Amino acid sequence: MFDYLIVGAGFAGSVLAERLASQLGKKVLIVDKRNHIGGNAYDHYNEDGILVHKYGPHIFHTNSKDVFQYLSNFTQWRSYEHRVRASVDGQLVPIPINLDTINKLYGLNLTSFELEEFFAKVAEKKEYIRTSEDVVVSKVGRELYEKFFRNYTRKQWDMDPSELDKSVTARVPTRTNRDDRYFTDTYQAMPLHGFTAMFEKMLSHPNIKIMLNTDYREIQNVIPYRQMIYTGPIDAFFDYRYGKLPYRSLEFKHETHNKPVHQPAPVVNYPNEHLYTRCTEFKYLTGQEHSKTSIVYEFPQAEGDPYYPVPRPENAELYKKYKALADAIPEVYFVGRLATYKYYNMDQCVAQALTVFKEIRTKEPEKPLVL
Ligand code: FAD
Ligand code: UDP
Repeated sequence: MFDYLIVGAGFAGSVLAERLASQLGKKVLIVDKRNHIGGNAYDHYNEDGILVHKYGPHIFHTNSKDVFQYLSNFTQWRSYEHRVRASVDGQLVPIPINLDTINKLYGLNLTSFELEEFFAKVAEKKEYIRTSEDVVVSKVGRELYEKFFRNYTRKQWDMDPSELDKSVTARVPTRTNRDDRYFTDTYQAMPLHGFTAMFEKMLSHPNIKIMLNTDYREIQNVIPYRQMIYTGPIDAFFDYRYGKLPYRSLEFKHETHNKPVHQPAPVVNYPNEHLYTRCTEFKYLTGQEHSKTSIVYEFPQAEGDPYYPVPRPENAELYKKYKALADAIPEVYFVGRLATYKYYNMDQCVAQALTVFKEIRTKEPEKPLVL
């Protein structure tokens, strides 16, 4: 008899498996329908021996000391600050838009102060910032919005930014200084030996059994367990009772080139050209030295594995209906990006899983901590 059946061996499922086993002595069965652990953060050495991220670039960053310290139990880190260039008007310029972006794009020599005045002149005043269009045009005006955001967003989401919640493009800030880092979080680092090695360590506890290539539905009536933690799509759990929640998918095209370097930045975004949104060169992320280099292109699509919840009001409404069903079965915990339909980064999934663990632990006050 397992205490917990955990569906999904990504961040949400693996953190909970580790905590329940190591802190509460629970017996855990973690199942994943894929043939590997790590969920979308899974990485592996390809046939040329280059460490690649199967499901696109994953860069770890967080402001949470708790999350960083927790993961540090399972990995050493390699400091890494992510930088991205956008291909716009025939040039590669920094994104997030900063002082160098504008000076390079327009052949200017503005100071930060002058750039603030420039933005103030071109920005469109908005009474309410509601959509992903509002966020950008209210800061940098329509021309820069069209060069950097409109077409990228249409490609990625198959939707105009005016139809998407403001939170989507608000992920990308605007700067008037020369800081060209993609993230400004306190902790920015990559697991020294990769994500999968970190997951292996998290899950290597005698109380944790891993079952891969298995949909939980195949075993849930065969293997006895007391409680479930579910990290797959919430609508699938309830057999799409209220209809499908939209998730956006991607097709990844991996390539290896017989040269040490492919492009001048870890990621190049292509807002206005090509069917793909961006190209990532993994060696920048991992620090690996190799005579060849591996890259991945991301082609957005509607069908396929669910990768992104689509933040917009009607989807939030539909999610609420599923959440009400979930709340009615307290013996199943819904955790993670797909099960709570939140556009979460890795660190947010870890934080959410740690919070759920605390909740579970407080329900068992009589159990002493297992050290
Ligand atoms: P997942 O990793 O999706 O794990 C859920 C698991 O459940 C999957 O392995 C799935 O196979 C399994 N499952 C589903 N249904 C079933 C079933 N019926 N039976 C058995 N198993 C099932 N975050 C960052 O912080 N930084 C980044 O740079 C970053 N880049 C990203 C790039 C891309 C292209 C994508 C798609 C995401 C990116 N993320 C990034 C987000 C990150 O991937 C997620 O926040 C995190 O991996 C989600 O973890 P999770 O455990 O909630 O879900
Ligand atoms: N975005 C854009 N142009 C860019 C980068 C991002 O329009 O050059 C928009 C786009 O809608 C994207 C969102 O901002 O989906 C969030 O970008 P982020 O890089 O955070 O996406 P993720 O890494 O999660 O795919």
